Amino acid sequence: METWANVPLIINNGADWFRSLGTEGSKGTKIFSLVGKVNNTGLVEVPMGITLRDIIYKIGGGIREGKKFKAVQTGGPSGGVIPEQFLDTPVDFDELSKLGSMTGSGGMIVMDEDTCMVDTARYFLNFLTEESCGKCVPCREGIYQMLKVLDRIRRGEGKEEDIGLLEEIAEVLTDASLCALGTTAANPVLTSIKYFRDEYEAHIREKYCPAGVCKGLIAYYIEPSQCQACLICFRDCPVEAINGGKSLVHIIDQNKCTNCGTCLEVCPPRFGAVVKLPSTKIPEPVPLGTQVIRKRG
Ligand code: SF4
Ligand code: SF4
Repeated sequence: METWANVPLIINNGADWFRSLGTEGSKGTKIFSLVGKVNNTGLVEVPMGITLRDIIYKIGGGIREGKKFKAVQTGGPSGGVIPEQFLDTPVDFDELSKLGSMTGSGGMIVMDEDTCMVDTARYFLNFLTEESCGKCVPCREGIYQMLKVLDRIRRGEGKEEDIGLLEEIAEVLTDASLCALGTTAANPVLTSIKYFRDEYEAHIREKYCPAGVCKGLIAYYIEPSQCQACLICFRDCPVEAINGGKSLVHIIDQNKCTNCGTCLEVCPPRFGAVVKLPSTKIPEPVPLGTQVIRKRG
């Protein structure tokens, strides 16, 4: 559609007019689907050569809720993630490729500080597993095997050698797949390892998800000094994992908790008693039957 839409304009205005827009290597304009954690989402047509920063901040209006920018993924599911230090990169075919990403189908997903890059890579690989036609082994098996490795890292069962294993599978996938789906599928994994390796290492070595996203690595906890025994979380927990009662400090049974996050959502902000912590750092629970400390007002 985008190509066809350009044709009458080029016929009417001439090829030189079209070539006057863009960069040396990438002429004209490009439409991107700007989505994710930006204030203004939608289809945007920009001259090639505009910087990622201008698209995200001038057109997209910056990051929602004043949060910190973390990365932008360009090119659709097979694109790479680009971190903050490259926000002034001009958007053209060559420059995005140099960063391990691509212009691709024109997708542009903006991520904020609450995004886990391991989880993000897993999300795209899961999509690509479904998309692989299965004709060639490197693509069919390679994507699936990488997905399995990412899943175990997210569960807190990652091994020291997993990053190297992901890179090794990615190399075979890129070199030996038959079509562009397979040869580009490793981009989200390779770029997330390249630019956010520390996050992979935190998941594997410390069993910690810095963004607090991976369910296998987080746990919910009720701060005894904050709980006011309002009973809301007790009633709303879908698996009855919360022990409590009138005037009693509520306690989460970590063996029953499914990490759904409902208690965090429903605990009134004025109490703010429920917190999300690394699963390895959950304090010992107070004894059942502990009385709440009532707050004034
Ligand atoms: S996270 Fe979900 S399952 Fe766990 S205690 Fe809270 S509401 Fe219950
Ligand atoms: S919703 Fe919050 S304050 Fe109310 S019982 Fe649960 S943890 Fe305590």
